[in-house]
Parts: sequence; C-alpha cells; structure tokens
Amino acid sequence: MSELLKNFLGGRWVAGTGAGTALFDPVLGQEVARVDASGLDLRAGFAFAREAGGAALRAMTYRERAAMLAAAVKVLQAKRDDYYAIATANSGTVKNDSAVDIDGGIYTLSTYAKLGDGLGDRRFLLDGEPARLAKEPLFQSQHVLVPTRGLALFINAFNFPSWGLWEKAAPALLSGVPVVVKPATATAWLTQRMVQDVVDAGVLPAGALSVVCGSSAGLMDALEPFDVVSFTGSADTAALIRSHAAVTQRSVRVNIEADSVNSALLLEGAAPGSEAFELLVKEVAREMTQKSGQKCTAIRRVFVPEALYASAAEAISARLAKTTVGNPRNESVRMGALVSRAQLNAVREGLAHLQAQAETLHDGARHALVDADPAVACCVGPTLLGARNPAGSDASDRIHDTEVFGPVATLVPYRDHAHALQLIARGQGSLVASLYGSDAQALADAALELAPLHGRVHVISPDVAALHTGHGNVMPQSLHGGPGRAGGGEELGGLRALNFYHRRAAVQASTATLNHLA
Ligand code: NAP
Repeated sequence: MSELLKNFLGGRWVAGTGAGTALFDPVLGQEVARVDASGLDLRAGFAFAREAGGAALRAMTYRERAAMLAAAVKVLQAKRDDYYAIATANSGTVKNDSAVDIDGGIYTLSTYAKLGDGLGDRRFLLDGEPARLAKEPLFQSQHVLVPTRGLALFINAFNFPSWGLWEKAAPALLSGVPVVVKPATATAWLTQRMVQDVVDAGVLPAGALSVVCGSSAGLMDALEPFDVVSFTGSADTAALIRSHAAVTQRSVRVNIEADSVNSALLLEGAAPGSEAFELLVKEVAREMTQKSGQKCTAIRRVFVPEALYASAAEAISARLAKTTVGNPRNESVRMGALVSRAQLNAVREGLAHLQAQAETLHDGARHALVDADPAVACCVGPTLLGARNPAGSDASDRIHDTEVFGPVATLVPYRDHAHALQLIARGQGSLVASLYGSDAQALADAALELAPLHGRVHVISPDVAALHTGHGNVMPQSLHGGPGRAGGGEELGGLRALNFYHRRAAVQASTATLNHLA
C-alpha cells in the first residue's frame, strides 16, 4: 500500500483515521499515495490558525512578511527536482507543462515578495485620501485597509496543485492572514509536499500555513464570520459553496474561480499566412496542448472570418498533427496525460456532446500513444472541431456553453465583427479572450468591447510576437478571474489581490488623529 500523506493542522502533522483515498499515476496506472482527512478536529485546527498564525502574521510588517515569502521561495527553489518528479508521477505532465505549475507558482510567490517589500514597514494600508466631513477640514473620514481577523480557506482544483496554492497564499500571507489549503484529491501530493517543505524549513510562524488532504466534508462548517474562502473548481461545486450557511448566514467573504469557455478572435482583414493569422494558429495549437488542455484559461472557441475557416482549420490541424502524445518520461513526447481516468471519461463524454453539433477537423483519436498503454494511460490526442459555417455557429448552443476540460477547441466562423462579438458573448462571461490583428486602433476598440465580458483581454499583434506572455498564462501583475459563468472572482492583479484579505473601514476623526495613521 502507498504512503498515507499527513495533514498539517493545529501546528502538527496528523494522519487521517481512515484507510484513505488513493492517488494514481495517470500514465502507468499505479497507486502513488493516499490521502485522508477523517477524524481531524477542524474547528480546533482552524482556531489555532486564526489565533496563533493570525496574531503572529499581523505582528509583522508588510516588509517582514515579504521577506518571509522570499524565504519560502528559496526553500521551494531548492526542491524543484522533487516537485517535477511528483508532477510526472501524479499529474502525468511533460517537463514544460510541469513548469507552468511549479515555476509559475514560485514566480508568483517571488513577485509578491517584491511587491510586498515596496509596502514598507507598515501593518495596515491607507485607502484613498481623507475626505472632509465638515466645512473646515478638522473632522474628516479616512478609509483604512486592515488584515481580516480570520483565516483564508483555499479549496483548489486538480490542475494546478502548485500554482493554485501559491497564487492565493502569496497575497494572503503578505496581507497577514493565515492559510488553510485543501487541494483537489487527485493531485494533492504536490501541494502537500510543498507545504511540508515550507513548514519544515521554519520560515513561517506556527499556524500560518496548514493543509488538509482528502474529503472537503466539514471545512465550510468550520468557518467563522471574519474568515474568507477562495474556491477554484467547477460551477457545480461553486454553487454549493455559495449557498453554504457560512456564506449566506455568517457573511464569509467568498471568491469563486469557475469554468470558462474562453475565446480567441482573429480580426477581419488578416489574410491566410499573414503574421496575425500565423500568430493565432500558433497560439491555438499551444493552448490546446499545454497541460493537455487542462487549464481554466485555455482557448476553447476560435473565431475567424468565414472566408478563412478552411485555411485556419488546415493550419491548426497541421500543427496539432505534429503533437506527440504519451508517457511524459519519453523525451520525444510533447503532451502527457489527463490527470485521472475520471477526467479522461469526462473529456470523451464532453467531446461526443460537442461532436453532435460540430464537425471534426482534426481527430485526436488518431494519435498513437508513445510509450504508453492505451488501456491504462489517461492520454488523449488533441481534437479540433468546427462549426462549418456562420449559420452553424449560431445554431450550435453546445460549443458556446460546454467546457471540455482537455485538448479540445472549436473553430467558429463569423460573418462580420458584430457577429463575432455576439457569438463570444454567448460564453456568458469568461476568464480571458485573445485578439489577433495588426491594426492597433481596431485591436484597442475590440479589447474594450470584450473587457466587460472577461477578466483579461490578451492582445497579440506582430510587434509583440516574441514578447507576449501567452493567452493562457496567468501573470501575477494582471487580474485573474472573470464575470458570469467564470465565477465572478478576482485574483492577482498585483497589489489589488490584497483587498480580498483586508477589511476596509472608515475612520472618522479629527485631522490631528488621522495624522497619526499616515
Ligand atoms: P471540482 O470537482 O469542483 O473540485 C474543486 C475542489 O472542490 C476540489 O478540491 C474538491 O475536492 C472540492 N470539493 C468537491 N466537492 C466539494 C464540496 N461539496 N464542498 C467543498 N469542496 C468540494 O472541480 P475540479 O474538477 O477539481 O476542477 C476542474 C474545474 O475547475 C474546471 O471546470 C476548471 O475550469 C475549473 N478551474 C478554474 C480555474 C480558475 O481560476 N477559474 C482554475 C482551475 C480550474 P475533491 O477533489 O476532494 O473532490
């Protein structure tokens, strides 16, 4: 039997009392570890985090907390090889895809260490300028941001066990708020190991970082009014979180990052083979295959002028055909596995659901697996679907509202710019849209038209071909989250992320008193 991973709660390592749920290697099919959270005293553990962890963190200044994050970065960097080995074994990812999660997480943490240092030796933040409440500026209102007195519970998705932890923990810890993370069961090992390494290195105060692996039962029940919960995962689970009494009755602040049917749009005027056309083709193929399409930000719908449908289909398919799929341990493999058999089944079902309303332009089923047994490995080749013609784009509802969480995207022809915008809006709010073109004015106009529907608009023109950070890559400097079905959440965006972990209060006082807050 594989190792039962321990939980870290209440300042100590504690094993669940049950047999545990097994985690598997999605390529070889072997059991790699087990997790179990039964028998944990969640209320006592949460109280320890709030009282010991919260008090210790709040006693530090932003600059001291930033130094703490920088120390955690050093710990994680020293153990990168271990993390890559875990990612290969438990997520089935090739090295480049493991890097998106592992190095992306460490980079985000180090970015907040730098940003936090700039906040200096303070323990709270001022929000705006004092506003006069009387005729003379003697009695005024000053808004302040102070760390919330609760803990931050993170309930995370399976696709980013490292980045998903650190992109949330960095702003929380920098704000002075203790963290309890509950990773998705299928890939909990990497999160658990990273927490273990940072805890064992002693770079954080006791109670600042805890991890609960296994069932989510009871986690929401243990939340109290000043706690916050940040959830990443499916819309169905998000609905359960939102309707929980912790949120509806105790006003626990909640941030939701849910699923999304993200778009890429080639503006009118680009000819086949033009730079903008090639940039779109390259990015779509990359987004479909990176992490086997298991990114909440991945391109799912590709909008092109109807005259370019056939040439775009051909060019994207030609790139996809070169993708070698299989065992990530084989150097020739470019795309590894989905994380589990459950995900493989979900992708197959989702694909069949879309294929009922779309043609198959490139069939992933035709990819032979490299070094992997198709009866065991959770691998699937990339599939490009197509909506045939603009009438098909209108008639198909499924391509606009179904997120297949794998290497699948649909090419959608549009009649004119207004039609493209109308079709993109049928996604009902997404995390990100990318635009491709060479007319800066047209790109800027389209970016503003798409901004109300997205958390981020990624604009690619030939002048940034070698510089841009990628449609799906979430950079800590930019907002992550999206309106509508994307969950309505906001994460990252530089120091904006700290707002979620602070309470805003107005202090009404004499100017002399307010001067002491400055
Ligand atoms: P999920 O099934 O909703 O699970 C997400 C997390 O919620 C897991 O940790 C899960 O634990 C936990 N959970 C399940 N039931 C719960 C309950 N009743 N109460 C509290 N927690 C519960 O989602 P997933 O399949 O792991 O993730 C895939 C989805 O996440 C995709 O749709 C993707 O688009 C979305 N996603 C969004 C973002 C974003 O930033 N917007 C990022 C990544 C992924 P167990 O694993 O133990 O069941």
